Amino acid sequence: MPYDVVYKGDSRFSKKIMEELLSIVPDGVSDKESDKIVYSRDYWPIGSRWFLDGKLAGMPDCIVWPENVEQIAEIIKIANRENIPVIPYGGGSGVVGAAIPVRGGIIIDMKKMDRILEIDDESLMVTVQTGINGMVLERELNRRGYTLGHIPQSLYCSCLGGWLACKAAGQFSTKYGKIEDMVIALQAALADGTIIKSKDIPRSSTGPEVERLLLGSEGIFGIITEATLKIWPYPEERAMLSFVFDDISNALQAVRLILRKNVYPAVARIYDENETLRHFYEVREAKKKCMLILLMEGDKELVELEKKIATETCKKEGGIECGEEPVIHWLNTRFNVKEASEFLPKGFIFDTVEMAVKWKDALNLYRNVIDAMRKVEGIVVASAHASHFYPQGVCFYFTFGGIPPKNVEPYEFYKKVWDEMMNACLNNGGSISHHHGIGLIRAEWLKKEMGERIKMLRKIKAAIDSNNIMNPGKLVGENGEN
Ligand SMILES: Cc1cc2nc3c(=O)[nH]c(=O)nc-3n(C[C@H](O)[C@H](O)[C@H](O)COP(=O)(O)OP(=O)(O)OC[C@H]3O[C@@H](n4cnc5c(N)ncnc54)[C@H](O)[C@@H]3O)c2cc1C
Repeated sequence: MPYDVVYKGDSRFSKKIMEELLSIVPDGVSDKESDKIVYSRDYWPIGSRWFLDGKLAGMPDCIVWPENVEQIAEIIKIANRENIPVIPYGGGSGVVGAAIPVRGGIIIDMKKMDRILEIDDESLMVTVQTGINGMVLERELNRRGYTLGHIPQSLYCSCLGGWLACKAAGQFSTKYGKIEDMVIALQAALADGTIIKSKDIPRSSTGPEVERLLLGSEGIFGIITEATLKIWPYPEERAMLSFVFDDISNALQAVRLILRKNVYPAVARIYDENETLRHFYEVREAKKKCMLILLMEGDKELVELEKKIATETCKKEGGIECGEEPVIHWLNTRFNVKEASEFLPKGFIFDTVEMAVKWKDALNLYRNVIDAMRKVEGIVVASAHASHFYPQGVCFYFTFGGIPPKNVEPYEFYKKVWDEMMNACLNNGGSISHHHGIGLIRAEWLKKEMGERIKMLRKIKAAIDSNNIMNPGKLVGENGEN
């Protein structure tokens, strides 16, 4: 049955190639229509809107589930010979369209490569295959007395490879760092089928770490197959604090000063007035205020000291203590994302957009991006929280939602809000993405973000992947073209 496909493929896939793939992975190739439809999109909200309207974002030629790096290298060599796109696929939880097969091709789903290969207790490192599901990895580490400290909201539905390829950030990032801070070594199959592997040593001064090009690469250079990551002993103590502030500026100031004292809460989250109302309506003191929640964890004595310093700092900045309850509420609800599937079928268009900014531009960026969203006709929700902090700056996570006015197509409305937000971000000194990546929706903005550096990225891409088979249309292209 012919489908209405938004990004139409032009790949030269054939029965002969299908047979070759089956000879490499006999039980792990499918060109069934139902499978191809499942892999036609990721979690990009507009892709879900199209799906509900009977349209597919893209259409792969087949899906392969390899079990080792050698099979992946063989598949890539065939794709290179035949000039067929290869798209790595983890959990499909990406929210910017990075895994959509815009030119058709072979989806390589990594989920069968899900083994924990080694835990080195003395050096505090774990070596894992990248198809492992996030929750499975964290649970297994917890069972053995460790944590990775990387807990994105998509923990249940994303994989290690996707985290590395998108430069993901977890909710506990202010203490443990983002995924790239945790990487010790990587193994990958590159676009020509070469397999590379770095040493699992804490640091080396041996020239540029070329394998790090794969971090944030969204699959355009090759497939990351294995990673060695830092781990931490499971924390012995947890402290939970919350404060409300009259204005978001006071809450931001409090967190900035806490970090300046070298205290790194694992979780720090500031909700603006609208989001405080949405999430903490049961907290009496929070009415018309901004909520800050803090969670410190680790060694008992250190946590006590961190708690003392954070409390003093928040009170000095006008914070009113609200106890542990708001933090417990957050812990209990932090993986709930049902609103998306509830409101989308009702015609509501929404998305979340994260940006990073240094402290001195933070307030301006927050206010101007909120104004930019509100400016678009049809917007009902325009709010933000800040959830990743550095001594140098902060990541704001904006949410917009609305209903397109009469005679305006959903995508037109959606794109208009994004354009306003991206412009406001760049005009106020921000970076257009903190952790979701570029995918399709940010593609045209990357050139403005990167300036001359995009030429360097394109040259590197051309050198590593001269036939442009690895996830074509992503990162170095615009609007799905490159
Ligand atoms: C409800 C929800 C909550 C979320 N919360 C967070 C959050 O807290 N923090 C955060 O950072 N993100 C979050 N995200 C976004 C998403 O989960 C992340 O971008 C995640 O890193 C994607 O992982 P994945 O395995 O699902 O990747 P996919 O969506 O399958 O792929 C994403 C990109 O990575 C590439 N890729 C996948 N695996 C590999 C590999 N092995 N080698 C090379 N390239 C590869 C793909 O080709 C694609 O370009 C959330 C998403 C949802 C739906």
